[in-house]
Amino acid sequence: MVINECQVCGATEWTALPDPNKHQSVTTASRILNEPLGKSQCNSCGFVQRTRIEFLGLTDYYEQDYATYYERPGTDLFHKKRYAAIVDWMKSYLDPASSLKKQIDIGCGQGWAMEAIREYYPGSVIEGLEPSHYNVKIAREKGFRIYEGKMEDTEVESGSYDLVFSNNVIQHVNNAKAFLLQLKTLLADDGVMVITCPDGSRPNIEILWGDQNFSFLPMNLLKLAEDIGFKTVFWTSSADSPSLPPAQLLLMTNNKNYEHLHLNRDAMDIPLADIFRKRADYLSSFEKINEYLMQHIPEGAKVYNFGASYWTSVLAAYCPDYWKKTTACLVDEDTGNSKFLGKDVQLYNSITPGENDVLVIGTGPGWQKNLQEKLSGKWKNIVTWDSFINY
Ligand SMILES: [Zn+2]
Repeated sequence: MVINECQVCGATEWTALPDPNKHQSVTTASRILNEPLGKSQCNSCGFVQRTRIEFLGLTDYYEQDYATYYERPGTDLFHKKRYAAIVDWMKSYLDPASSLKKQIDIGCGQGWAMEAIREYYPGSVIEGLEPSHYNVKIAREKGFRIYEGKMEDTEVESGSYDLVFSNNVIQHVNNAKAFLLQLKTLLADDGVMVITCPDGSRPNIEILWGDQNFSFLPMNLLKLAEDIGFKTVFWTSSADSPSLPPAQLLLMTNNKNYEHLHLNRDAMDIPLADIFRKRADYLSSFEKINEYLMQHIPEGAKVYNFGASYWTSVLAAYCPDYWKKTTACLVDEDTGNSKFLGKDVQLYNSITPGENDVLVIGTGPGWQKNLQEKLSGKWKNIVTWDSFINY
């Protein structure tokens, strides 16, 4: 069933966003789906929801399939650092350790954020909740108590947590309001809750994922929290970084006496037509990138893709002509993975390019200039596509 009501404001009028490809999309775990993205923007509040396709979260995707997110080449190195950075960010707005004795990480994955926060709060009890069987097993091996399942079908003790945190989960759930309401019941009287998710006011890679049901403008997240009775205490957006999508962080509580730290609502007020245009431009870029890459592949050349992770899976899904031409993916370090989305994965140093062979940079746009410079001694034909991504 496709949910047609905006989960933030209840309106039912949507404007369809362009699909980067008419036949397929891709998940954060690098699974290619044989369906378009099907996302739309709410005409009343600017919230983005998958309105034209049934959401993947209604299947057992998270229980059965999501662990592959963690199994891609280099994921451990890259994402573990990312979660430690998120915890660092989160922690800088929290009370001292003494007031956060019992904590829970909702959607804890393999426990990366919990490991990072355990270093800051060594005396606290830290628990987690996670739907993926495989991830639960790994997080438990690290010594954490983990509830297995989704929030809606798991019995977690209500009213008992001093800190509830959930990083990059709310955009993946079936019902964002119900999810926040369930989290609200877990909080102790003076407890605080921290939600982080992509910042939907700055179009970025998150809007390309088929398993991200929503994109939240800062005002959307705030409204959702306040409508269900949270006191919103603090909001901030992360700085730009070449490797990470722009994120937002919201701190809230049930305790009405809590002091507001910083909520600049004027800065969050974004014209909806502007944000629609930016999102539409971003999503439309991939058709152009596909064409551009095809124009830069000479007849008979071998085509190598530098990288085998997030951005490469985006190219595989949304630039399918290019992907068909690709011979292999090249990586810096041996990660034990020999295939990525059907292509061989080879060590960069093991390849000697032929005269016509092409190296396409398959990493994030922010890294492409540097890589091009670094690799140009060995390769005559290097293709970057960062100029197509404007935001
Ligand atoms: Zn709305």
